[in-house]
Amino acid sequence: MSRVIAIANQKGGVGKTTTAVNLSACMAAAGREVLLVDLDPQGNATSGLGVDKNCLERSLYDAMVNGVVMDDVLRPTQMEHLTLLPSNKQLVGAEVELVDVPQREFCLRRALEGIRERFEYVFVDCPPSLSLLTVNGLVAADSVMITLQCEYYALEGLSELLHTIVLIRDKLNPRLRLEGVLLTMYQHTKLSNQVIADVRAHLGEKVFQTVIPRNVTLSEAPSFGKPVIFYDLKSAGARAYLDLAQEMVSRA
Ligand code: ADP
Ligand code: MG
Repeated sequence: MSRVIAIANQKGGVGKTTTAVNLSACMAAAGREVLLVDLDPQGNATSGLGVDKNCLERSLYDAMVNGVVMDDVLRPTQMEHLTLLPSNKQLVGAEVELVDVPQREFCLRRALEGIRERFEYVFVDCPPSLSLLTVNGLVAADSVMITLQCEYYALEGLSELLHTIVLIRDKLNPRLRLEGVLLTMYQHTKLSNQVIADVRAHLGEKVFQTVIPRNVTLSEAPSFGKPVIFYDLKSAGARAYLDLAQEMVSRA
């Protein structure tokens, strides 16, 4: 059985893409068959896996808008067990071009239908908005993982996101559930600790035990086109994402 997990937060810079790339890689390293779907026109998940986003022959845009068959869009990565559905700025056009398409919220879901069962985990890296693209991600997903940065405004916008999830569950995708909330960019400060305490008080068991530390290695790895476990396996960032993968598998 495959699980499609959307990684979402309408805020930018909260660790969605870093989590999508590194959690995918850690799952693949553990021998799980993984697909990473880059649903952000910024294409950072694509380049983070070492694929040149400016030279894509086909991308997720073609699958969602032009109905190109998935097998022509999927690409292998440097890693065994990890497949990429790449994107670039062309995907911005989908927002506009899908407006008049019937059931425009279901384009990603339809595109994934024939292939999702090949994978154990499908991670969808959502853009930093509650746009039609993100709605497509949430409609295609079985569950949503929310990343929150351990900073003062962490909870800002969270109620809007949770409300969107409820609406989507009511109207478009009744099976959508909350996979969990992941705290990222933790630093040993009073503020970070306070944020963690607040988030755990609000969301209880929905919060992953694993907390991702702020770790410069995690921000360097993408410029080498590598998940952190191939850039510096001993770094705190690599260890944290390996722990997260382990936690997710044991929670399921
Ligand atoms: P989002 O996808 O939510 O916009 P990103 O994952 O792209 O966020 O992260 C934003 C920036 O912060 C990137 O430059 C990334 O490399 C960096 N970053 C993300 N997580 C960490 C971390 N745990 N430690 C250090 N830098 C991080
Ligand atoms: Mg991102």
